[in-house]
Amino acid sequence: MNHPSSIRICEVGLRDGLQNEAAILTTDQKVTIVRALVDAGFKVIEVGSFMHPVKVPQMANTDDVVKAIGEIPGVELRALIPNKRGVDRAIACGCKKVKLNVSASRMHNIKNLNRTPEESVAGFKDACDAAREAGIAISGSISMPFASPWEGRTPVSDVDSIIEAYMNVGITEISLSDASGMAVPYQVNELCAHVREKYPQCTWWLHFHNTRGLAIGNILAAMDAGMTQFDSSFGGLGGCPFVPGAAGNISTEDVLHLCEEEGIETGIDIKKVIELSGTLPAMLGHGLDSYILRAGRNKDLIAAKSEK
Ligand code: ZN
Repeated sequence: MNHPSSIRICEVGLRDGLQNEAAILTTDQKVTIVRALVDAGFKVIEVGSFMHPVKVPQMANTDDVVKAIGEIPGVELRALIPNKRGVDRAIACGCKKVKLNVSASRMHNIKNLNRTPEESVAGFKDACDAAREAGIAISGSISMPFASPWEGRTPVSDVDSIIEAYMNVGITEISLSDASGMAVPYQVNELCAHVREKYPQCTWWLHFHNTRGLAIGNILAAMDAGMTQFDSSFGGLGGCPFVPGAAGNISTEDVLHLCEEEGIETGIDIKKVIELSGTLPAMLGHGLDSYILRAGRNKDLIAAKSEK
């Protein structure tokens, strides 16, 4: 199995996690978390989104969070945007990195937006032009590139045609986002190998939810295909606490623990992340879906045994 010497992790808990929470964190609380993440070593952090504040009130203070933090050299603070309006907000608050999203589920996209995923991406051209003009880096994500609850397995040709639509508007940094938590490792391995070979000019992020317990397996399968950039969420945030069976993103400390045990460099201090995730239950009012938070690291067990 292919074993990368290092990987990059983007912490997405502040966006993908908090957007599902009943509790709305204040700008100060979010800024404190971002600073703690930077202190732990994160170089890429998804701080929030510029969605409509009425639709996603948890993210309404993203502009203030970005303004309060300002620029941190060597750290990329990215925000999810729906369209060009998101770029306008990024310009206004000083955000230097934005990410667009489209669903690879044709039925989902057509039902919701009355257009195909490719038409949606083509419609992003004005957002891309505005971002480029303002010196803002722009990337794209594809939700459900592996499977969707409506159509089952996503045809690879559908994923290809969305990637090509992104490339047509000048986007070459693309995230494959298993938002439905339906991806399985061999499929992940095949799709990752396929897109890397077919689109060598692109860089990739993988984003897995642990809805069915397969996220770590999917990360390993993606690594085996040469992928080295992954999203994760501290404390495994991301599941809606009111929806039975919903689970969050793969927990950051679980990914870091895998890397610690396998000798894969991340540049992130796992102990600081565990400490930070440990503050979440009190802040959010519920428990978390994180193996390492529950069970601790292998290394902690060994240290405790050798002290006796
Ligand atoms: Zn997600």
